[in-house]
Order: sequence, then structure tokens, then C-alpha cells
Amino acid sequence: MALKDDESVRRAPATEVVHLGRDPFSHHGFVNLPPYRGSTVLYPTLESIEAKTQPFTYGRRGTPTVRALETALTRLAGGADTKLAASGYQAVTTALLAFAEAGDHVLIADTVYHPTRQFCDYLLKRIGVETEYYDPTIGSRIAALIRANTRLVYVESPGSQTFEMQDIPAIAEVTRARNVWLLADNTWASPLYCRPLDLGADVVIEAGTKYLVGHADALLGSITSNARAARHVERAAGTLGVCPGSEETYLALRGLHTLDVRLARHQETGLRLAEWLKARPEVERVMHPALPDDPGYAIWKRDFTGATGLFSIVLKPVPKPGLAAFLDGLKLFGMGYSWGGFESLVIPFDCKSYRTATHWQCDGQALRFHAGLEDINDLIADLNAGFARMKAASA
Ligand SMILES: *Cc1c(COP(=O)(O)O)cnc(C)c1O
Repeated sequence: MALKDDESVRRAPATEVVHLGRDPFSHHGFVNLPPYRGSTVLYPTLESIEAKTQPFTYGRRGTPTVRALETALTRLAGGADTKLAASGYQAVTTALLAFAEAGDHVLIADTVYHPTRQFCDYLLKRIGVETEYYDPTIGSRIAALIRANTRLVYVESPGSQTFEMQDIPAIAEVTRARNVWLLADNTWASPLYCRPLDLGADVVIEAGTKYLVGHADALLGSITSNARAARHVERAAGTLGVCPGSEETYLALRGLHTLDVRLARHQETGLRLAEWLKARPEVERVMHPALPDDPGYAIWKRDFTGATGLFSIVLKPVPKPGLAAFLDGLKLFGMGYSWGGFESLVIPFDCKSYRTATHWQCDGQALRFHAGLEDINDLIADLNAGFARMKAASA
């Protein structure tokens, strides 16, 4: 990929995503790289086996398709190396296992993706790692929580479900000074709208399942590291046998080429929906860090170059039949987990029961929205009809 990967030319992300991860003239001119499938990789001679210099040795250890996506993501994130995983969650667990060992203490944002929390509470605990959850808005005050055995700090900004922004540069200043690793789950922003490695993180985790794949038809994760962290991640991923599926890798690579244009639309529709919902009498509050009166706005503005289509609201208290009438009758918003596909989604949530370092306070029902690629006016009409049903069913 000599031409496309020319490091000396700095191009805009919109251009990068179109050209990264492709090398047509190594593939008879075909525009897309094919999905290499395979376990066995043949060696031509005894000498080539013994030399251990062949770039591909076994399917689990990488294919040209996997390597192409890894290289593209490394470039987009500004890192030294990337390892792909079979899901975003596998990327999370692999990254944590790359650093945490028995006797360690780890600091995890209280607003972290819920399965990440379960991994810490169940598996890290079993191998003798102590997890402490912290308020995501802590910033440089994280210094007071660092102990002699603190191995890593884990951030996720904005936080899952409630969208609290984290001051990654302030936390990074502390982790650098104290020789502690800083891991960041950057799934909400994607590599296009935030580059945590530039903000001081050592490792960035992405659930490619969301916007990279973008069509709700595959699972994929990635871990991109700086030069300091890369060998730890590579060793853990190799030892754990972490590898993505070939079809999934192909779909993610294909998604990469349209990521910029899709995100621009998710962003615009998400903001317009958030503003519209904010003005509704049924809505108590909206959590979207790109709204100027959001508590996280200043950090978002400083550290991010865009917002994606995921945000939450809290409704004013409404009887259950009213809520059900609103949700069940929606025609364009599907109810389901995950997000990042082309379709709009809504899902109720309640994080009161499991957060421990912060107190999530709300009286009404909380809902998380994903703004899809539909026309904004149709989406608003769908929600408008939903509020009318809610009113009728609550009377
Ligand atoms: C979805 C998600 C993950 C997990 O990704 P999967 O591919 O579903 O395993 C991890 N972190 C965040 C923030 C997510 O939203």
C-alpha cells in the first residue's frame, strides 16, 4: 500500500477512510480487498519455515484483510499498532488482561459500559485484581485515588447511557506522572471524532460493531496502542487467541470507506432530535454532550471534533401504560441493544441499581436514542405521534 499509506502526506479523515486499507493493484485492480479466509498458510521451503520471516503464518495470527484494517485503524487513531478482536467487548477484556495482574488495583469510571463492569467484578476479582470505581467527572483529582499498586485507569467518554464527559488530558497527566496505564473506550466518538492517544491515553478500545460496521450485521472490536503499550496488547491478544472473523473484518473494512459521511448524518440528526426533544413538555432533561448547556459541553468542544448519533433523555414521570403506548407504537425507532447501524433505535434503561461511585438521580423513565440515517422530519413525526399516544394512554 505504498501510495495510500504515504505517511508524509497529511489528508483529511474523509479522504483517509476512502483510501486506507485498500491496495487495488495487488488484487488485479479490484477496488476492495477480498476477505481472506483460512487457517493453514503454506511455506514454500524448509528454509522459509526456519527463517520465521513470512508475514503470515497461521489464520489466527492474522490475514492480509485483518492486517489492512489494523493498519488503517492505527493510522486513524494515531497509534503504533492495532489488534482486532471478535467483538468490542472482547477488545475490552483483552486490553484489561494485557495489563492487570494479581495484586493490582485498577480504577474504572463508574459510567463504564455495563459488561466491562461485570468483567471487573467477576473475572478480574477472581484473578486477584481489585477494582475501584470513580466518578467520571473526577479529572485531575484522580491523583488522590492512585495507590502504589494501581496498574491502570480506564476511561469511557462520554459515559455509557448517561453521557458524562471525562477530562482525559487531566487524567493522563496524572497517569503519566505516576507510571500508570491509561485505557480509553472511545466507541461513542469513533476514531474520526476523538483521538484519545493524542489526549494522553496509552490504549484506545473501539467497538467496531457500532459505527465502523455501521449496518448492524457484524461484531468486531479493536485495540490500538501507543509504542509503549503495543507489545503488552500484542502478547495478551496472541496468548488469548483473540481473532476476528474474516467476513466481519471484510464488512468493517467496507464500512470504513463510508464512515465519514455516515457519521456526519448521524451527528446532524442526533443533534436535531436532541434539540427537539429538549423543547418537549414531556421531557425532563436531555443528555447530549454537544448541546451547549450540557455539563460536558466544554470538554466535548475542546477534545472532540464531532458528535455521533447516540444520546439519552429522561422523561417526566408518566404511568406505565403511557410509556408503553409511546414506545410500542413507534414505527421508525426499533427497540433493541447495540447501535451505530443505519436505523434509529430507542431503549429504556435504569442505571440506579449498579453504579456505586456516583448517584444517578431521576424520577421519570430514562431512554437512550440512536439517530439513524432516516429523514429527520419522518423521525420527528414518529416521536410526535408517540407523545400523542402517551398522552391518550395516560389520561
Ligand atoms: C457496544 C459497546 C461495547 C461492546 O461491543 P460489542 O461489539 O457489542 O461487544 C464496548 N464498549 C462500548 C462503549 C459499547 O457501546
